[in-house]
Amino acid sequence: MMTAALIIVGAGHAGGRAALTLREEGYSGRLILIGDEPHVPYERPPLSKGLLQGSVDLAGCSLCDSARLAELGIEHIAGNPVRQLDPPQHRLQLADGQWLSYAGLLLATGGRARRLPQEQANVLYLRTHDEALALKSALRPGARLVIVGGGFIGLEVAATARGLGCEVTVLEAGPRLAGRVLAPVISEALLKLHRQHGVDVRLNVALESIHAEAVQLVDGQWLPCDLVVVGIGMQPNIELAVAAGLEVGQGIRVDTHLRTGVPDIYAAGDVCEFRLGGEYQRQETWRNAEAQGRHAALNMLGRDEPFEALPGFWSDQYDWGLQTVGVITPLTVSRVLPDAGLLLFYLDADHRLQGACGWGPGNSVAKDVKLCERLISARIALNPASLADPHVSLKHLLRG
Ligand code: FAD
Ligand code: NAP
Repeated sequence: MMTAALIIVGAGHAGGRAALTLREEGYSGRLILIGDEPHVPYERPPLSKGLLQGSVDLAGCSLCDSARLAELGIEHIAGNPVRQLDPPQHRLQLADGQWLSYAGLLLATGGRARRLPQEQANVLYLRTHDEALALKSALRPGARLVIVGGGFIGLEVAATARGLGCEVTVLEAGPRLAGRVLAPVISEALLKLHRQHGVDVRLNVALESIHAEAVQLVDGQWLPCDLVVVGIGMQPNIELAVAAGLEVGQGIRVDTHLRTGVPDIYAAGDVCEFRLGGEYQRQETWRNAEAQGRHAALNMLGRDEPFEALPGFWSDQYDWGLQTVGVITPLTVSRVLPDAGLLLFYLDADHRLQGACGWGPGNSVAKDVKLCERLISARIALNPASLADPHVSLKHLLRG
């Protein structure tokens, strides 16, 4: 009889990183990586940027190619999703009916684009490589594009589509752009940048209906368009976990070690709900998929350490970049940079840095955000006036 394997469900970023880590760390037993997409594991950030522009292809986004998976002895089952889990029997069933036994299981099923109730041929979503290719072929110069949702998908697609010569309107239901995760001053900067690039951004608007060549708003206005892109958030793929009786909140709930209530089942990535600063939450970011995929793999090998990585993400729009690290607190200090960029510092009551957000041309804030990461770890009390002063180097503050 074949020995039970370590199995990873979800061959996306977190799942792929976990599989590669297991081999790098010396696990030599049977290792199975199961995905519902037909591709090797890949990173999604280029889907709304380089891949849509045509500067990157699937190979350029992939964590590794299929030859490398074979060389590492990682059995990659593609296009054959897991249909059900059977935790008491330590086994799962694939869509083709096959049962597989596991000695340890990682759930890294990510999420899917939240959909509007109305399905229509001219409405596109963006979560997967294949969806990105479908969108790419529709982004022809002069195409009239309406984007529903002023979050990251909406804004990054808007920027790329403008670069490709499309006419773009963004409809955001809330009062500001990316309002759930960004400070008002950054939402303002994004609004200004998109309007400068000729995007018709409308806030506080609600969609009534979508038609073949137009959308209608609830206030009765009609907006003619050739294409509608919907970016209204992500829905975590929790159904397998729910059906198997695992504890689920907004995602698959895990302890500090990324383990579910069932000792041999772990979760990682967008689908994973874990405690951050006392609250259960999910992180929908590259950095989290990378860190949790790796961490869960190590713990499956018996490392058994708490997950303590700092959260963070970036976004590139036109020739501007946004980077965040840590968490947002109510006590914010801003530093206006000479190139019109901005650094926001989030402090606790003792003036120790908890998080930071940088906004600037190109990659200009990367170095400062990296230094902020070190300032957060250093846990030293900082002078708000020094933080606000662009003449005071963060390196200097780090030295105390
Ligand atoms: P996923 O990458 O979604 O992988 C999960 C995989 O599991 C998928 O392939 C899914 O189909 C599969 N699966 C689901 N159910 C099953 C099943 N039953 N059986 C088998 N397989 C299953 N983050 C940033 O920080 N910066 C960025 O600039 C950025 N840009 C982004 C741009 C786009 C267009 C998108 C969509 C996301 C972006 N992100 C960005 C977010 C980042 O890509 C995600 O946080 C990351 O991909 C999450 O990785 P994951 O492995 O948890 O989930
Ligand atoms: P998102 O970042 O959650 O943003 C969705 C936006 O759409 C929010 O501003 C939301 O407002 C708004 N909205 C919701 N329903 C709406 C409606 N009916 N009409 C108009 N606006 C509506 O989600 P997303 O942009 O779709 O991105 C999906 C996933 O990809 C997320 O996990 C995201 O993190 C990830 N992603 C990340 C990056 C990055 O980090 N750079 C880039 C691309 C994608 P409310 O908040 O008020 O609901």
